[in-house]
Amino acid sequence: MTAYERLREACGVIRDLEHTAALLDWDQQTFMPVNAEPDRVAQLTTLAGVIHEKQTDPGFARLLEQAEAECRDCPPDSVQACLIRRLRRDFEKQSKVPVDLVKQLAEAAAQAHSAWAGAREKAQFSLFAPHLERLLDLRRQYAALFAPHESIYDPLLDNFEEGFTAKQLDVLFADLRRKLVPLLRRIIDSQPPAECPKAVYGEKEQLAFTDEVLHAIGYDFTRGRQDQSAHPFTTGFSLNDVRITTRIFPEMPLSALLSSIHECGHALYEQGISRELDRTPLADGASFGFHESQSRLWENLVGRSRAFWEYCFPVFRRYFPEQLKEASAEQIWRAVNHVEATLIRTESDEVTYNLHIMLRYEMEKELLNGTLAVKDAPAAWNAKSMELLGVEPTNDSEGILQDIHWSMGEFGYFPTYAVGNLLAAQTWCAAEKQVPGLEAEIAKGNFRPLLDFLRRKVHVLGARFTPAETLRRSLDASEIVPDHFIRLLEKKYSQICGF
Ligand code: ZN
Repeated sequence: MTAYERLREACGVIRDLEHTAALLDWDQQTFMPVNAEPDRVAQLTTLAGVIHEKQTDPGFARLLEQAEAECRDCPPDSVQACLIRRLRRDFEKQSKVPVDLVKQLAEAAAQAHSAWAGAREKAQFSLFAPHLERLLDLRRQYAALFAPHESIYDPLLDNFEEGFTAKQLDVLFADLRRKLVPLLRRIIDSQPPAECPKAVYGEKEQLAFTDEVLHAIGYDFTRGRQDQSAHPFTTGFSLNDVRITTRIFPEMPLSALLSSIHECGHALYEQGISRELDRTPLADGASFGFHESQSRLWENLVGRSRAFWEYCFPVFRRYFPEQLKEASAEQIWRAVNHVEATLIRTESDEVTYNLHIMLRYEMEKELLNGTLAVKDAPAAWNAKSMELLGVEPTNDSEGILQDIHWSMGEFGYFPTYAVGNLLAAQTWCAAEKQVPGLEAEIAKGNFRPLLDFLRRKVHVLGARFTPAETLRRSLDASEIVPDHFIRLLEKKYSQICGF
């Protein structure tokens, strides 16, 4: 066996262990009996320890070195070269961080998480404040290990969007904000009211309806399944087992449908990754932003399009003939595109979503830089909410305490959601150019041409290349820009609002 083959096998073992942990986690969130919780936590902790041991084994580092020497002449875009690049990068990053800091971060996050849940329930930020302070301090220590850098934010962002910097985000978000805020005002001032008929939509029928739509758009049920959970998510145990969950509200059938389509977008990405990358860290999305671009493309650019509802409305009505007897495709299309500036990010629409992200990005930077004190953070949040969205939280639960991310010590994650939205629009515009009759096919319920395009251009590559290189290869683009996103919104809302 060559050193590369042994390295690949070692990767495979780590990947198997990670997937086993993912399966235990999936079960915990879907079917596990409630009293099994402490045992499951113990099992997951044991597995995390075993995985960490394997990753930091000195034998693994030696193998990586030998494989590097062996593959020195491999073409840079070969799987060998790509895998070695990725492993080297991960290894260098990991070896910069002392084990003690890793443990402190894990411990602080575990404590912060329960404190956050309690604080959110009581709407009392002060209960979470000392934990946030501690996590920010530990993350500053973490970022310092990667000095020199232009912004303390960069090493944190790099964990989610390799190579992307705060400076690039500042430019991107300033441009987006300048175009988005006036557009939002125009939409809110002129959109006609529209809603899905108020009624009870049975749970069983909702689930069957979403299953049928998932089949139509190309989700492979022989290599995945859909279940229910409190928060919808996608998880994979191999390229042949990528599962999704959805959440059903009896009075809001469009919520489950769009959740299912969103998660399906993530799952289609992973089901489409080249088999030759299986059991390696390259069998994943190119970045968090890329992963989100696939879910947003299906959710917003397909699932909220006029063409999609031409196909989908008759299906919807077949499951709910009574509830929808007076409704039309046009009405449901307008309802799924209704815009309203609200307080909660996860319930926000396509137009306001990125403004929620900008708020969090600004807060994170100021908190990490120390220009904003933790004690002043709730007031700063509320002021930014007013400034960006025109709405102000009445308590901390609907303001600064609404998201889980900071309680996990995750700073730098939020911007990837906005990056995903912008990338989705860029991807869609590329598809429009290259796939003849794209919308006409969608209106007929034929999603194959779009899926084939995504498979060929994006999915198959997985995490083989850096995000910047993936962007170049898949979309022939050199940077992420807001123009496509804005243009698509303007086009849709000029039809809805008549401007
Ligand atoms: Zn997502």
